[in-house]
Amino acid sequence: NTPNAEWRDLDALHHLHPFTNHASLRAAGARVIVKADGPYIYDSEGHRILDGMAGLWTTNVGYGRRELADAARDQILELPFYNTFFKTTHPPVVALSQKLAEIAPPHINQVFYGSSGSESNDTAIRLIRHYWALKGEPSRRVIISRKNAYHGSTIAAGSMGGMGHVHQHSYPVYEGFRHVMDPCWFDEGNDGESLDEFGIRAARAIEDEILAVGPENVAAFAGELVQGAGGVKIAPNTYWPEVQRIVDKYGILLLADEVITGFGRLGTWFASDHYGIKPNLITFAKAVTSGYLPLSGLLIDDRIVEALLAHDDDFNHGYTFSGHPVACAVALKNLEIMERERLLPRVTDYAAPALARMLGKFKDHPLVGEVRSVGMMGAMELVADKKTRRRFENPGRVGLICRDHFFREGFIMRAVFDTMVCAPPLIWADSEFEEAERVIGKALDLTLADVAG
Ligand code: PLP
Repeated sequence: NTPNAEWRDLDALHHLHPFTNHASLRAAGARVIVKADGPYIYDSEGHRILDGMAGLWTTNVGYGRRELADAARDQILELPFYNTFFKTTHPPVVALSQKLAEIAPPHINQVFYGSSGSESNDTAIRLIRHYWALKGEPSRRVIISRKNAYHGSTIAAGSMGGMGHVHQHSYPVYEGFRHVMDPCWFDEGNDGESLDEFGIRAARAIEDEILAVGPENVAAFAGELVQGAGGVKIAPNTYWPEVQRIVDKYGILLLADEVITGFGRLGTWFASDHYGIKPNLITFAKAVTSGYLPLSGLLIDDRIVEALLAHDDDFNHGYTFSGHPVACAVALKNLEIMERERLLPRVTDYAAPALARMLGKFKDHPLVGEVRSVGMMGAMELVADKKTRRRFENPGRVGLICRDHFFREGFIMRAVFDTMVCAPPLIWADSEFEEAERVIGKALDLTLADVAG
């Protein structure tokens, strides 16, 4: 029994994994990842794997940063933990909050912390409803979001999300959430309709829902600026300005879920800057620490904070680890690295065009129905028929075949059913793009052969 097999056996015996078919995991065993450095992860059998998913949309500065380890160690020795519940605070949480207020849109100056994106979306849901109660309009409870959205796995965040398979078996969707179409032209666009026209039509679906529910009952619209886990679904340029016009018209709050897009993925601190919108609330997690420690938060605009300050009352919500000092210290160092290495302009000037070019090379491949990307996130749609955009029967089967070919060739892209998605660390250079391109070409050909055979 190699150490690798031992880890696998013990894992199968004792570890239930997130979003996993445990019968198939038990049959095949998990791949044991033992270390990581720069853009690579390494498994226990000695394979080096290029990580095209930045962990899980997370490791923006890459692996192996000693400075982040030092920041964590120093903070653990100084103050490993103290809570922020009872009118206490500590230097790392103050410094990080100030930094976040500096890089957030100008109308946003406050942050409420959690440890995961799900928690921060739960915070947002509670705060949105609390806000309307404070404003004397408690009937405004409905939050409109979109099909295919992923906002997390807690029951509230899962209900706000719009994935059928997440709603399906575990629990009923909480009341007060409505889901409208997502702005993905590949799935929803009509032939003959321009992208810009489609963007407006998709945004108007929100207005139709507001009118159907009654504007006096609608609290907020929530959306990921780019749907990530749904398959890197990128809205046309007309979409977000039209969404902004609609939420302004009805006076409802706009919640931007930037758990994936925050901290440079689109070459701006927040994708809200990229799309030129003014959300009232922004949730973030993942890349705030580049994943070195768990930390998340909710950025809250002045309009909502003023409503809180106008009432001598508690917001009865919080987590033991809200503003954890070690996580805050690591986040501060991570943001410092991003600034020092100019990773945001690097995405805009170099990495995003390089990713678009790399994926673009496969647009004529017989399996590929569409390639798309924005910033450092991209997708390839695998289809049965290129011309008609017809997908394969048994969704996900071909995506998994392709993903496994990537894996065997030492590269990670994720399969969202038959949509292959990637979101590399922001540090990729020519050699990584070239390596990925080589593997993608080979894996697509092998997948095609499997599908044809
Ligand atoms: N929101 C978005 C857009 C996400 O992609 C995710 C996770 O991938 C979440 C929320 C949930 O974050 P977490 O897994 O940290 O709870």
